[in-house]
Amino acid sequence: MEKKIISTLLSWYAKSKRDLPWRSEHLANPYYVFVSEYMLQQTTVPTVKTRFEEFITKWPSNNQLAKTTEGKILKFWSGLGYYSRARNLLKASKIINNVYKNKIPETYENLIQLPGIGDYTAKAILGIAYNKPVMPLDANIERMLARVYALNQPLIKIKKQLLEKSNNFISKKHSSKLIQAFMDYGSIICTPKNPKCLDCKIQEYCFSYATNMQSIIPIKTLKSKLKPKQYTRSYVCINEKNEILVRQRPSKGMLASMLEVPNDNWKNNKNLLKKDVVIKNIKQRFVKKGLIKYSFSHFDLYSDIYFTRIKKNNFANSKWLRVSLYTKSQLPTVMKKIVKQALVNTD
Ligand code: SF4
Repeated sequence: MEKKIISTLLSWYAKSKRDLPWRSEHLANPYYVFVSEYMLQQTTVPTVKTRFEEFITKWPSNNQLAKTTEGKILKFWSGLGYYSRARNLLKASKIINNVYKNKIPETYENLIQLPGIGDYTAKAILGIAYNKPVMPLDANIERMLARVYALNQPLIKIKKQLLEKSNNFISKKHSSKLIQAFMDYGSIICTPKNPKCLDCKIQEYCFSYATNMQSIIPIKTLKSKLKPKQYTRSYVCINEKNEILVRQRPSKGMLASMLEVPNDNWKNNKNLLKKDVVIKNIKQRFVKKGLIKYSFSHFDLYSDIYFTRIKKNNFANSKWLRVSLYTKSQLPTVMKKIVKQALVNTD
């Protein structure tokens, strides 16, 4: 059965694969796979597609990427979220430059030691770029395996079984194509919702289809609890030259080293907020411009937004950013939303 599934998926892939910029007719450029895998962690393929091309135009090789600065890569990453990926990508690129003479490592042991690379990413690079016999378990592949074998427990509880089943699909000759065939098939045919079973070429080998369980497998976990909340107050101050007061966040913690507008230290209880020290010394009256909620992966941030106009002046650890440039600046998405909201109905 597994052999039939492999040959069917490979033929399907030859005709119906997705057109993705980090792929090529033969084996993909390892640097492209390396970059795309960092981008794809937590971000969807359609979003990554265009950003990947911009990235490669800017930094076409590891040698060029390794020479860039954290500020530049963070600025580029704006809108993709999860900025630790950008920092790790740059750190890994520098190691590849120093230790591996710009060649993306070809062994699991060397890849797994790079910042931001876990089991899945190491195997994806080895399999897709170097055709090594591995099977990285991404969400598409896990879902397909769970359905084909009708594993009727939440994915989180069957990781070991999935790993064992995935070993049935490790190919010595066609690893790269087979991995991508699984990924594409899961994305196009065996989709998370409403899988296209009637068009499915491996339907006759699928135990979920045979038992009419394809719409309930993978089994959903019970609804996750509400995310914890964090609170802040953000202050958008604009001078007579139409510039916004901004500063750099600390080098550790959330949104490390990114730009921000002044805001109070984030707290899990609104009543514990203490006014930011720079803002305390500004005498002008602030106007409240609403509230935003921004969802991070593990908590929701609520920020009241205040706006004022002030005279251009020097403030500790701060600088001025032209309003016309804020959308293209190194401000992370949450800060851009805050500025956007503050600018509503201002003259
Ligand atoms: S028959 Fe349906 S559930 Fe089974 S592999 Fe095909 S698309 Fe997925």
